[in-house]
Amino acid sequence: MDKDRKLIIAGNWKMNKTVAEALDLVKGLKRDLSQVKEVDIVVCPPYTALSDVSREIIDSNLRLGAQNMSEQSVGAYTGEIAAEFLKEFLVRYVILGHSERRQYQEESDALISQKAATAHAASLKPIICVGEKLEDREADRTQAVVEGQLTGSLAGLNADQMLETIIAYEPVWAIGTGKTASSDQAQEVHAFIRSKLEQLFDASVAKQVRIQYGGSVKPANARELMSQPDVDGALVGGASLDVRNFSDIVTNSI
Ligand code: PEP
Repeated sequence: MDKDRKLIIAGNWKMNKTVAEALDLVKGLKRDLSQVKEVDIVVCPPYTALSDVSREIIDSNLRLGAQNMSEQSVGAYTGEIAAEFLKEFLVRYVILGHSERRQYQEESDALISQKAATAHAASLKPIICVGEKLEDREADRTQAVVEGQLTGSLAGLNADQMLETIIAYEPVWAIGTGKTASSDQAQEVHAFIRSKLEQLFDASVAKQVRIQYGGSVKPANARELMSQPDVDGALVGGASLDVRNFSDIVTNSI
């Protein structure tokens, strides 16, 4: 598929995979995806598997991401993980503001913007998640919700940092439910996000930033979603836990 922006497909493993299972998965991905150059492929294991997975993929075309991090850089924050610790494992990307964290940990846009600043200070690329709930969509509030999340969570980023940031549009009603947004629904919101990036930054930034779609992406719908002009990749949950499914999503997207 011919797009100026390189596709980026990331697997969010969430709270799944022991170290042994993580290594099995990543060995399979290495085997199946070693020839792929057209896509930035990112795996985001739980923290406990970062070290082993990092060693396993060091000479491959797979890149490492984390699922969250602290907005603080160091200190008395029990249970938290600092950006610098992630760097030790050659982590390059970090998912911020996933809807599960917004829901269960009550993460706010303000907190996500602090985390994004901390990530950039450590040269980690944030993948910032936005997306409406079902009731928002039904009440025709999708754009208002997404606009509020973008404005709040990107606050304080400069243009250079925005260019190193990825947005993941993940309609909450499509996450883990088997319900995918249609490619038209996804494209509509992606185009809206790009127009907001133009307002918040400028046209050149808006043109370059990659916007992933997330929400029940699977091998069967990947190609059609990725063929949309403003869809530049995917953030994949459930289907990223299986070698065959994730590999097929990547190869079907090219
Ligand atoms: C996600 O949690 O980021 C996600 C998109 O999950 P799933 O692919 O399982 O819907």
